Amino acid sequence: MVRWACITKSPLTGTVTDSHQGGRTGARLRWAGFDGIVLRGRSETPVYLFIEDGRIEIRDASDVWGMGIHDTVAFFQARYGKKNLSVNAIGPAGETLCRYATWVNEDDRAFGRGGTGAVGGAKKLKAIVIRAGIQKSRDVDRDAWKRVRREALDTIRDEKHITSPRKGGLSVYGTNVLMNATNSIGALGVRNSQFTSFGDRAEALSGVYVKDNILVGDPTCHACPVACKKEVEIKSGPWAGLRMESVEYEPAWSLGSNCDNDDINSVAKMIDQCNDLGMDPIELGNALSMYMEATEKGGSTERGSPGVIPRAWSRWSRPLRAAKASAICSRKDRRSRPSALDTPKSRWRARDRPSPLTTRAASREWDSAMRPAIEADVTCAPTSRRPS
Ligand code: SF4
Repeated sequence: MVRWACITKSPLTGTVTDSHQGGRTGARLRWAGFDGIVLRGRSETPVYLFIEDGRIEIRDASDVWGMGIHDTVAFFQARYGKKNLSVNAIGPAGETLCRYATWVNEDDRAFGRGGTGAVGGAKKLKAIVIRAGIQKSRDVDRDAWKRVRREALDTIRDEKHITSPRKGGLSVYGTNVLMNATNSIGALGVRNSQFTSFGDRAEALSGVYVKDNILVGDPTCHACPVACKKEVEIKSGPWAGLRMESVEYEPAWSLGSNCDNDDINSVAKMIDQCNDLGMDPIELGNALSMYMEATEKGGSTERGSPGVIPRAWSRWSRPLRAAKASAICSRKDRRSRPSALDTPKSRWRARDRPSPLTTRAASREWDSAMRPAIEADVTCAPTSRRPS
């Protein structure tokens, strides 16, 4: 199994982040002749890296700047062919420097955490396109390598372990095997983590429910026997026919229970949309749930009285628009964040935390920045060719 990591200063936390991505890209980078890439400086115009046979070229990306990630991947697959090709791209969220922007590859696997996509956007780097050849690993002690590999595989395949192929919980249900487990011990974030149990409603978000109702495939990363990814297809409702991979545990609680939402179809749709926009669905769910709580407690000027769930939360199409809006309006959003959120966490002390009054004022600003975009039918340009 080959995963690879993106290591950079985090636009989200101000500290160092390392975010890890599955799929085949890490292996293909090696087969194209590189163990890793170091990126310095920035371009004035949109560019992408093309990597093949030990060479790296910087090429013009103005044709794909502004595209969603799914269309960007399709564009490069049409240009270079699908065979042995990996496309790792940022979306509109990264281009507009959203602090929780991601990189996503052709298998919808992401450098999801820490806002690494915004670093790509700051460098005007839209994509890293890798066409794998046959370059093998450098000279290594192959006997030692085989021994270590065998030991690792024996541990992974051991039936006692959660990773055991087709028997362990991780392999059968994916990471979302944790939904029922955390709910049952009172460790599940609910309504912006004000509560820790979602009761019976957690079942509808769980890996068990996904397996029994919408699972259509078990794709895996390169050479991994676990196959924890769970490809799903929405069977009914406005997004019927949408196939996506995969409903992981953390986005499921963040956009699900943490937003008081037990509709697995809407969670799947929002994750898919985040993968197209290039934004972290976990962070998005946390931002939306914070907004929801602030609104409920009267800190927002959203129509309605304090304590009334705002109209924006009565239909999931609104949060879907909010997701697009927060990708597109991130510059504006950033200016209107509470100043405490700009403070490195290491310097946080109890007395630095925003007072309820400050939080309310910030929430009002955030609300006024977001509302026009939420109310408008915001779309990315060009729109995704996937079912919407
Ligand atoms: S399939 Fe799951 S366990 Fe295997 S490498 Fe990918 S993310 Fe990890």
